[in-house]
Amino acid sequence: MSNSILLTPGPVQLHPKVQEILSVPMIHHRTPQFTSILKSALDQLKLLFKTSQPCFMLTGTGTAGMESLLVNTLKKGDKVLAIVSGKFGERWAKMAAVYGAEVIELKVDWGQPVLVEDVKKAFSQHPDIQIVLCQACETSTATTHPIQQLGQLIQSTRALFLVDGITALGAYPLPMDDWHIDGLVGGSQKAFMLPTGMSYVSFSKKAWDKINSNEAIASFYLDIKKEHAANQKGETYFSSQVQLIRALDLVLQMILEKGINTHYAEIHARSEYTRKMADVLNLKVYSAAPSDSVTALLLPENLDGSKLRDHIENKYDLILMGGQDHLKGKILRIGHMGYITTDDLHQSSLRLAQALNDFKHSVNIETVKENSRQLIQKLFKTERGL
Ligand SMILES: *Cc1c(COP(=O)(O)O)cnc(C)c1O
Repeated sequence: MSNSILLTPGPVQLHPKVQEILSVPMIHHRTPQFTSILKSALDQLKLLFKTSQPCFMLTGTGTAGMESLLVNTLKKGDKVLAIVSGKFGERWAKMAAVYGAEVIELKVDWGQPVLVEDVKKAFSQHPDIQIVLCQACETSTATTHPIQQLGQLIQSTRALFLVDGITALGAYPLPMDDWHIDGLVGGSQKAFMLPTGMSYVSFSKKAWDKINSNEAIASFYLDIKKEHAANQKGETYFSSQVQLIRALDLVLQMILEKGINTHYAEIHARSEYTRKMADVLNLKVYSAAPSDSVTALLLPENLDGSKLRDHIENKYDLILMGGQDHLKGKILRIGHMGYITTDDLHQSSLRLAQALNDFKHSVNIETVKENSRQLIQKLFKTERGL
């Protein structure tokens, strides 16, 4: 096989221009040159978050961003409703417990979106819920939650709605202000198409009122008021991750130049392509509310998915993700974020088809080729993705 293809829901393939800018010589972060890059990146972030509030960048992976949303708004003993529909929901619930919240878990079957009705019920049982935690896309099951409807519901309560948009923000529309989201986080190695290491957050006016009341539990490193003050002086609170911020500025510029909606449409087309190819490969889509950013394919019962995944990687140089916990060996997860060309898509379908044949799940390669070509022609206007 020729080139290696990385189609995981993070990390993702990097655009050649991003690779290039990552190797530009280092500059110091306390310089006019860096200050203008920082300002530009922070301003452009607001266009992606679709918020009038300031956005922030943290040198820490997505989980640090989740922690920032929480520690800056959570009071000890607050009742937190955690929507748990997979690994990342579990993570946020655990985190809230670590910080002394009274966590109420709303467990949702894996692969299913949460029912707004069930959240409403939780509020009638616990009218004093202070914070609601939810993934926009639960990456472990490739499932989206109805964020707009939840925001609508929660805005009329005293609670803050914190959303983990790490595999959503930048991949499909998640307008923070319009959808009444009070805290939103994105991650660098996911929809922001950069290497791992940074997260991006923003807080609503309602959240800022709580932050400014100084009642939230303290964090030294993640103190958003200090970060805000530093940003206003053209700096970050601690040393800046110069390379990733420079690359972020470029990525945002590229997205905005292309048009955010064109960018979303391209990612959507990749998910559409993948779901249609699943039919051709005789595989089912696992999730009841599939995401544009990542697709989970359910494998036949008699097929050992862990072995298949390793085989695809070792023999065909295509890197996909498997499932976790009770989905281990049962699903394959394919990411749609990052720099993915239509040739990558075509090649990955062929490689997956060949691997499935090696595992006696027979598919006709010529049919796969033909269908893939037709779909690409139908779904994509351009050869190259961002
Ligand atoms: C990847 C991911 C995270 C954060 O993971 P990090 O490894 O800390 O970057 C959080 N939530 C979701 C939904 C994710 O997909």
